[in-house]
Amino acid sequence: MRVFNFSPGPAAIPTAVLERVQQEMLDWNHMGMSAIEISHRGRHYLENIFEPAKANLKKLLNIPENYRIFFITGGAQHQFAMIPINFLGVNKSADYLLTGIWSQKAYQEAQRYGDVRIAADNSANKCTTIPEPSTWILNPRAQYLHYVDNETVNGLEFSYIPEAGEVPLAVDMSSNILSRSIDVSRYGLIYAGAQKNIGPAGLTIVIMREDLIKPAELLTPFLYQYKTYADHDSLYNTPNTFAIYLSGLVFEWILAQGGLEKMAELNKRKAKKLYDYIDQADFYTNHVNPRYRSIMNIVFYCPTPELDQLFVEESAKAGLAYLKGHRLVGGLRASIYNAMPEEGVDALLNFMQDFQRKYA
Ligand SMILES: *Cc1c(COP(=O)(O)O)cnc(C)c1O
Repeated sequence: MRVFNFSPGPAAIPTAVLERVQQEMLDWNHMGMSAIEISHRGRHYLENIFEPAKANLKKLLNIPENYRIFFITGGAQHQFAMIPINFLGVNKSADYLLTGIWSQKAYQEAQRYGDVRIAADNSANKCTTIPEPSTWILNPRAQYLHYVDNETVNGLEFSYIPEAGEVPLAVDMSSNILSRSIDVSRYGLIYAGAQKNIGPAGLTIVIMREDLIKPAELLTPFLYQYKTYADHDSLYNTPNTFAIYLSGLVFEWILAQGGLEKMAELNKRKAKKLYDYIDQADFYTNHVNPRYRSIMNIVFYCPTPELDQLFVEESAKAGLAYLKGHRLVGGLRASIYNAMPEEGVDALLNFMQDFQRKYA
């Protein structure tokens, strides 16, 4: 029995994709072995997994010709280091928008490599809103402006693309990539750990504007240089072939659902159902400025922490998994990525109503 999995990550994978993997596990592509057991340099892998995965991602996000896609082993937090290591150097600085737990962590890591500056910080209002752009302190000579498009822990999401003039935007889209279409040409570098809205953990996708790919000025391991991934088409070392295979199947699945327009429509509807209910129920609360509420991670609170805890226990018994909020913010969190069907959200709504009736 599969449950509705509201985990923030590693998160639910579409059931149809898992069934396909199961079916192909012993004999992929008539090779008499699984996709995990084949060479990452052989034509079977390249022609049937690697190239289609890149092509389908390009199609989904409408990625322009002057961008490259890299498949990098590791998580989003590797990029917290990789970006400053590649972009900083003597007399070079970068700007960071601090809007929640993940952008704070990105900033802390970047600080170790050079001159990084805080352009804005919303910690004074508990990360519940995005500071007005007119208050940001932007350095026009920064190498990049870093921000996190969707703060997974805080449930806070940008509703627009920040404007930084000629300064390239470096954005962490780990928890909302592929949730809707985006204008890739507005970014210098987009990265996303796969385990939220793409596939298994251990793979990060980077989409980078070609002119930004340069040899790193700082001493940098080969595998931490974007140029290595560009020069070797993400095959300098053995990539996470299983995660790339499975992610490729997820890309195919999204295309079959109708692409990102369809995903966006469904995601908006799912999130609206939950927020509307939270707002009208005199029991649950959400503190995020409605303009910046995440459509992927819905954070909410019962009237007391004790009730939050009870909610977690009872919902798990009802087949609704991983609704506990992040330890740093408490409460509850429903992560409703692409793979969460609308029926899952409806089941959660029903549970929320029952729980309220019981304990209000
Ligand atoms: C989960 C998450 C991360 C951390 O990813 P790891 O793969 O664990 O390094 C970073 N940024 C955001 C926005 C996330 O949601």
